[in-house]
Amino acid sequence: MFEALNERLSDVFDRITGRGVLTEADVDTALREVRVALLEADVALPVVKDFIAHARERATGEEVIRSVKPADQVIKIVYDGLVEMLGGEEPVPFNLNASPPVVVLMAGLQGSGKTTTSAKLALRLSKTERKKVLMASLDTRRPAAMEQLATLGQQIEVATLPIVQGQSAVEITRRALQSAKLQGFDVLILDTAGRTTVDEALMAEAAEIASISRPTETLLVADSLTGQDAVRTAKAFHERLPLTGLILTRADGDGRGGAILSMRSVTGLPVKFLGSGEKIDALDVFDARRVAGRILG
Ligand code: GDP
Repeated sequence: MFEALNERLSDVFDRITGRGVLTEADVDTALREVRVALLEADVALPVVKDFIAHARERATGEEVIRSVKPADQVIKIVYDGLVEMLGGEEPVPFNLNASPPVVVLMAGLQGSGKTTTSAKLALRLSKTERKKVLMASLDTRRPAAMEQLATLGQQIEVATLPIVQGQSAVEITRRALQSAKLQGFDVLILDTAGRTTVDEALMAEAAEIASISRPTETLLVADSLTGQDAVRTAKAFHERLPLTGLILTRADGDGRGGAILSMRSVTGLPVKFLGSGEKIDALDVFDARRVAGRILG
């Protein structure tokens, strides 16, 4: 991810670095090239516009032009702008502040990596945070999805709710809540039914499950390789579900990175984790500084 953007920005900065003096026109040209690079990386247009307007305001002032190393200042302004666009310096913590069982609701389109990510999160919470985790699949339409979660649970030694045929998603949710309470689980991860599109009936079902289970975190899992489609999906889900954050998968792929870069600004939601591979431990806490560093590094 971000290779092309990294290369483009390196070229832009190479052209201005080493020159003792920069005119306002030089800075303006560089920022225009940054704009094109961001658009080519598939960042949403309004996000790019805001970014450039803000950067231009800060970069074309006397302070930058007259500084000893103006190019460094421009690079710093772009870095700061990227960090801001990605949600700020401090990663938004994963919220487990509720009386147990703390419910985490996972939503997303089919194939986004939702079930794998549920297991990745369960592994992280049980290993790193030492939480006792229960996972339950609510995908009554796809028995294979339920079995997939059970298999992943066995692999990572995290409990899954026993599968009972013929129950509705709401019934499974109630059973999961009761089991988690009675058996003293700290966290309950609910893996909702995957959708092929933003489907109204399934969305209503997910909203009902959210109102019954009162999740502390409601996370949308989206495939970062789908670019602006992922951003549109997140917006549509957010209109129906009280999302608290996003997890973007396939950050290890060779996408342009536009979804990762646009998500926060377009939806207002923090990206909490990045999926970085097929392996079950490939889940990284989203850190805006690290991502901005990788883009400019
Ligand atoms: P779901 O239909 O949304 O539940 O998707 P799955 O969890 O079944 O994932 C679909 C495929 O994507 C599986 O082969 C996963 O191994 C793969 N996958 C999930 N997350 C990632 C990721 O972050 N990186 C890569 N490379 N593959 C992923």
